[in-house]
Amino acid sequence: MDCLFCKIIGREIPAQIVHEDDVTVVFPDIHPKARVHLLIVLKKHIPTIADLQDGDEKIMGHLMRVAQKVAQDEKLSGYRLQFNIGKDGGQEIFHIHCHLLAN
Ligand code: AMP
Repeated sequence: MDCLFCKIIGREIPAQIVHEDDVTVVFPDIHPKARVHLLIVLKKHIPTIADLQDGDEKIMGHLMRVAQKVAQDEKLSGYRLQFNIGKDGGQEIFHIHCHLLAN
């Protein structure tokens, strides 16, 4: 599959992975928009939030727990989580990921 994030997950393209488990990988955004800008990426290739189906609640809930964990690891007192959904929502990479941003 010609998907950049699938290639990072498969180690075909390098990234500085700061967390990995059965469901997610986390690595810094290559063009950071804040002091801390991490991408929390589902391992399962689902293009957008709009494509979620019954049964995906568990992995999406897990993604949120990973966001909480990496924020704690980074000792962040506050942060923003952002999903861009669809081309008109500013999404560039069609593989579900959450931006974690903090200054
Ligand atoms: P989005 O617009 O929500 O699809 O976000 C995609 C993000 O992926 C952008 O903020 C890009 O800067 C980031 N990005 C693109 N290529 C890479 C890469 N090779 N490693 C890390 N982040 C990337």
